[in-house]
Amino acid sequence: MLLQIDKLKFVGHFRTAACVQASRGAPKRIVIYCWAQRFRNTLTVLPNNSMDTYRNFIGGEWVESTSSRMVQNLNPANTDDVIGSVRQATRDEAKRAVDAAAEAFRGWRATPAPARGRIVARAARLLEDHKEELAQILTREEGKTIAESRGELQRSINVAEFCAGESRRMNGETIQSELSSNFAYTIKQPLGVVACVTPWNFPVAIPVWKVAPALVAGNTVVFKPATLTPATGVRIVELFQEAGIPPGVLNLIIGSGSEAGDAIINHPAVKAVSFTGSNQVGIRLYEEVSRRGAKVQCEMGGKNPVLVMEDADMELAVESTAQGAFGSSGQRCTATSRVVVVNDVADEFVERIAKRAGSMRIGAGNDPATEMGPTVDEDQFKTVLSYIDIGRDDGATLVCGGSRAMGDGLDKGYFVNPTVFDHVTADMRIAREEIFGPVLSVLRVKDFDEAMQVANDCEYGLSSSIFTTDAVRVFRFVDEIETGMTHINSPTTGGEAHIPFGGIKGTGIGDREQGSTALDFYTDLKVVYVDYTGRKREGNLY
Ligand code: NAP
Ligand code: MG
Repeated sequence: MLLQIDKLKFVGHFRTAACVQASRGAPKRIVIYCWAQRFRNTLTVLPNNSMDTYRNFIGGEWVESTSSRMVQNLNPANTDDVIGSVRQATRDEAKRAVDAAAEAFRGWRATPAPARGRIVARAARLLEDHKEELAQILTREEGKTIAESRGELQRSINVAEFCAGESRRMNGETIQSELSSNFAYTIKQPLGVVACVTPWNFPVAIPVWKVAPALVAGNTVVFKPATLTPATGVRIVELFQEAGIPPGVLNLIIGSGSEAGDAIINHPAVKAVSFTGSNQVGIRLYEEVSRRGAKVQCEMGGKNPVLVMEDADMELAVESTAQGAFGSSGQRCTATSRVVVVNDVADEFVERIAKRAGSMRIGAGNDPATEMGPTVDEDQFKTVLSYIDIGRDDGATLVCGGSRAMGDGLDKGYFVNPTVFDHVTADMRIAREEIFGPVLSVLRVKDFDEAMQVANDCEYGLSSSIFTTDAVRVFRFVDEIETGMTHINSPTTGGEAHIPFGGIKGTGIGDREQGSTALDFYTDLKVVYVDYTGRKREGNLY
């Protein structure tokens, strides 16, 4: 329940409204909004001990879970900083969220698409108004640097704006018929209840790039964020609620994947599941959901290569590779994890990338000077360190990093030094498996052809990049590289709201997200044949 005491009083140009937010348990947070003609400010009044317990949002109400299973939401840069605690939603609560979404579907489906888009446009504006607040929560909860968080927020705003615009472009096509006085046309229709299951590494942008198109298309949504990032999930839903999403149209369930998540995706009323996360979870989820004939879209892991040719701008190649490999502590699906470099320039490249990695400033993300934050939690931290051991054991040459980062302000966080392995061979596990941490593998090759062969020798196919000044190689690379997205002389990371996003091979199953393809997954295409002869059909009897 969001209790709005609106239009309470007017003082000159000011309108003051108080919202008692019921999305968290005690202590309640009181947000006072002040509007003036020329500025808009948000004051967040928090009691000193502002530890939150997060609630589920079901049928337009913020409801406390009855579960006794609590998980703490910790700051990965300093585990003494407990942000809040999560009561893990039960299967029954997950089921109720799907039921609420199913009940709201008729009304939302009947709401004209541009009217749905207006609400999403309002949500975009609210995201913009609360950009800094959300960026701070994101950094505290997930660990990325504040600059990266602001970037993620901007991406989310862009996506919401784009999707709002798409509400006026849910066009079909008119098609000529083989018969006279006949024609056909297509319309896009919503599917029903859609589940959006999201990972922790982009806990604002990924939910927004799923929820916004799903809503614009006329679906009702059950959104399950990752257990590690509940605070951002709650805040996004609060802003959509404030934007005017009717009760039941968007529901939030905070719970474990194996329990609440499983109950959502296997509910028969869920007509489609949009999932982003690991292959381990995604493939099983795909099998289960597709078995009952529901639609599935899975965006999963990556092992993204950068090719460095002998004619590359070396400064650019090194800086871009460092950005791609160590940005967000390597915890991006599009992170650079392999560098395939030709022998002629390999020594120089390795020397320079090691120097760059060694100079990176590691620390808490809320320090503006920090270049790389922590890994997200103890599990991820241990996984990354274990892959470093695997690299050593498999015979790769450790050039820099290779250990936990300790020292001033780091000891209570999950910090790993940026790590570079040289002389990695294509059969080593660190060359084949997604590590999802700041670990870069350098594979040396003799020429462009071998580089292409090594780059494509991979089960994943998300992103890639090449550094060269040779146009012929650029276009051969674009033609032959087996990834859904590729970059020329720029990092493997990044994307834009109006451009499709996603991978091939082991990375992606189903329609592409975002851009011109954003609504494809969330709509069914209906074909309509119109015969205005008024006579019995003569031809076209097949
Ligand atoms: P994950 O462990 O696969 O979890 C993703 C989501 O699925 C979480 O919300 C998780 O809940 C939920 N889940 C787990 N088991 C489930 C089940 N049985 N049924 C339903 N839902 C279930 O992934 P992650 O560790 O959060 O994220 C990292 C991974 O995401 C990496 O592999 C990365 O490459 C990938 N990723 C891919 C892209 C892309 O676009 N290709 C973008 C970003 C990230 P819990 O949190 O409770 O486990
Ligand atoms: Mg995981």
